[in-house]
Amino acid sequence: MSQRVPITVAMGDGIGPEIMSATLEVLDAAGARIDIETIEIGEAVYKRGHRTGIEPSAWDSLRRTKVFLKAPITTPQGGGFASLNVTIRKSMGLYANVRPCLSYHPFVRTKHPKMDLVIVRENEEDLYAGIEHRQTDEVVQCLKLISRPGCEKISRYAFEYARRNNRKKVTCFTKDNIMKMTDGLFHKTFDRVGALYPDLEKEHWIVDIGAAKLADTPETFDVLVMPNLYGDILSDVAAQISGSVGLAGSSNIGEHGAMFEAIHGSAPRRAGQNVANPSGLLLGAVMMLVHIEQGDIAERVHNAWLVTLEDGLHTYDIFDEKTSKQKVGTAEFARAVVERLGRDPSHFKPVRYAKGGVSSEGAPILAPLPVSKKALVGVDVFFDWTGRSAGDLAARLKPADGNGLTLSMITNRGVRVWPDGLDETFCTDHWRARYRSPGPSLTHAQIAALLTRLAGTGLDFIKVENLCTFDGEPGFSTGQGE
Ligand code: NAD
Repeated sequence: MSQRVPITVAMGDGIGPEIMSATLEVLDAAGARIDIETIEIGEAVYKRGHRTGIEPSAWDSLRRTKVFLKAPITTPQGGGFASLNVTIRKSMGLYANVRPCLSYHPFVRTKHPKMDLVIVRENEEDLYAGIEHRQTDEVVQCLKLISRPGCEKISRYAFEYARRNNRKKVTCFTKDNIMKMTDGLFHKTFDRVGALYPDLEKEHWIVDIGAAKLADTPETFDVLVMPNLYGDILSDVAAQISGSVGLAGSSNIGEHGAMFEAIHGSAPRRAGQNVANPSGLLLGAVMMLVHIEQGDIAERVHNAWLVTLEDGLHTYDIFDEKTSKQKVGTAEFARAVVERLGRDPSHFKPVRYAKGGVSSEGAPILAPLPVSKKALVGVDVFFDWTGRSAGDLAARLKPADGNGLTLSMITNRGVRVWPDGLDETFCTDHWRARYRSPGPSLTHAQIAALLTRLAGTGLDFIKVENLCTFDGEPGFSTGQGE
């Protein structure tokens, strides 16, 4: 029998305290070998002036236990506050967000009785870097950052998860027909890692049609892996169509710790009424028990929970006159699960957990790619300019050419407007001027000199992006007729 494991618990906001109390009651009754350290995070901490919703002392507990069971918290609206979830995931390096979504037909109403899928969402990158800028009066930007190590880690995790859970297929969703570099890297890395798993079927879908298919025939998917934003949205869709967003738990796994939670939020409108469904958090706790190698307790809890569903004891969100027997509150539901500990479901297949959680430890490793040869071949300079004629802008920019750098193109929101633009193209006050060098490689001094000359034109440049090649391949988008 394993040792008692210290874990950190946060009771959360809104319905958080009710569903956490219910969850802890079940864990305690099931004999979970855990020692709980409670920390306060969320609304009250934000209100005390901590912009991330978490105090330094709470980090000490998380660093010590490395296992966090977290109830949902309320993120205050408006600027100045950072999302606590994003802060914790990124600070602790929790790169994989795993969200199983399956239907509990015929006990919970769903249009998708055969659905049984797991979404593995990349958790640290993509548009969630939170790097946003207002650059002109009319235009704001958000940086989408995708890294090769990030793509490798999440792909390996998805394939390992599939293999260790006897899943057959891993599907990748991206939008690499449009975002050829960022989503393209995710897709290519998925293919490279997938080649190390010949036993598993692999496929890729463009995310828009993939999402439509997921909503229509989710039973055709098994394990799905995708970048952060698509995973965030589609895991809520998948949970909701399986029966209720209140049914899904999730784990956030990293190399230095793990966090377990429900996928839903703090549902403030339902708070304090003893109506919320604690199932999502309870199933998050089941994932935690597997992670801390208490698969025996995880099985007891999970199977008792399935028996409770079979017995028709349902919270309001899944209650249905035809299939349910009794509408119960949060606390009553927890008590019903406790009463059924030790029983296996009769309709559903009883859950059996292998020892230990899934990690990428010991997984096949990609051969490292050689470091590419990088060359500086040009620069994109962005301007805030309220004129509307690209020809006029070109005429003001052209005198700054020289020193090996020549204006080759102007775009507005990515559409080429000079040379050979169309009068019909709508233009904002946000312009990009592309400078290329005919020579093999530029120096930073040449770019600095160009910027000095541009400053002399009186135009307001707002951002500079170097254009580099890597082993001769352009490391920048070139879809604009260059
Ligand atoms: P939400 O998930 O909290 O609630 C949306 C609706 O879903 C609720 O009104 C309720 O009808 C239903 N619902 C959710 N959980 C339920 C449960 N356990 N049982 C029964 N019904 C349930 O989403 P929201 O209203 O957009 O967000 C509320 C707050 O939660 C916001 O402050 C948001 O930032 C925060 N949030 C936190 C987390 C987290 O802590 N992990 C995640 C998402 C949202």
